[in-house]
Amino acid sequence: MTVRRGRHFLQIPGPSNTPDRILRAMDAAVMDHRGPDFADLAHACLDGMKKVFKTEKCEVIIYPASGTGAWEAALANTMSPGDRILMYETGQFATLWKNLALRLGLVPEFIDGDWRHGVDAAAIEKRLNEDTDREIKAVCMVHNETSTGVTSRVKLVREAIDRTGHPALFMVDTISGLASADFRQDEWGVDVAVAGSQKGLMLPPGISFNCVSDKAVEVSKSASLPKSYWAWDEMITMNKTGYFPYTPATNLLYGLKEAVDMLMEEGLDNVFARHQRFAEATRRAVRAWGLEVLCQEPKEYSPVLTAVMMPEGHSADNFRKVTLEAFDMSLGNGLNKVADKVFRIGHLGDFNELMLMGTLSGVEMGLDLAKVPHEKGGVDAAMNYLVNPQARED
Ligand code: PLP
Repeated sequence: MTVRRGRHFLQIPGPSNTPDRILRAMDAAVMDHRGPDFADLAHACLDGMKKVFKTEKCEVIIYPASGTGAWEAALANTMSPGDRILMYETGQFATLWKNLALRLGLVPEFIDGDWRHGVDAAAIEKRLNEDTDREIKAVCMVHNETSTGVTSRVKLVREAIDRTGHPALFMVDTISGLASADFRQDEWGVDVAVAGSQKGLMLPPGISFNCVSDKAVEVSKSASLPKSYWAWDEMITMNKTGYFPYTPATNLLYGLKEAVDMLMEEGLDNVFARHQRFAEATRRAVRAWGLEVLCQEPKEYSPVLTAVMMPEGHSADNFRKVTLEAFDMSLGNGLNKVADKVFRIGHLGDFNELMLMGTLSGVEMGLDLAKVPHEKGGVDAAMNYLVNPQARED
């Protein structure tokens, strides 16, 4: 067995690194989730998450589940068998949500995408305008597509829906967006947002969220897909008293409270700006290496991760394997249509300048070791940008 020293570099686009402060907060005796102290913790988490979602009007629901559970909850609560929903193929996670909808007995219409762009709001608008019988019950999109490093503009899609006057619910997966990229539940009129603990919230995997509007709750009262574990009604009723209908992930909630405190101390706008800065530094490194960023639209560059295309004839998975073995750093793999063609650099969550420079150094050295053709100077380009963000690219 190889002996490793120092921390593993976990540079996949989630789960992200959990800061010591959150680890310490969770390092506590397991509490009685029906006892008097629990309600304070639950209220602090539920109220705190409203600030993170930027909502005063919607309810937050916390599931002891991964993000996929919260995806299912969003649909199971609001839809009836055979309901038609409009989805957009931004990449692998949009595809997985569509597949989940099919398994639930829904009829997703999946607008084709090229995995290099975000949701085309005009295509959503066109399809909704054609739907004169109002058969489409929901528009579902992925905010930050983790498989491609493309962040779709939720506001543009909302505006497109509004122009059509279509009553469909608006559901947004912001599992890898929330707390890294700006997200505004109320302002953008999101009816159901779906989020997870293990990305911008900096927690280990294990809890996930729905943030639901009054309109969505109203629709859920007559929606007939079977739901029990995921049902919003009991959860919302019990949460008001500070308790859950079943056993919550108590120690993760200690961590969640700490995570919200950390985000509020830094200020959400500063958190987003920090992510943008690291993403720009990363892209400058990629270009200096002579490699290409998968995302083709600068307005859609992800602040969370950067997917990098491998030169023709070179294996991204081999490069990642070499980098892991040599430098103990995990990078994200290419999924589905871009398998082995891209690798993904996560720059999210509890992350700072020197962690970024360590990451980019690992990538540059890994490219060398894996004999991937590239130019030198990516690390320099990123450093120059970090010390002088005004500097233009050479
Ligand atoms: N949606 C997005 C955008 C994701 O990035 C992920 C996971 O990475 C998921 C959904 C699925 O979440 P989970 O793996 O926690 O079930």
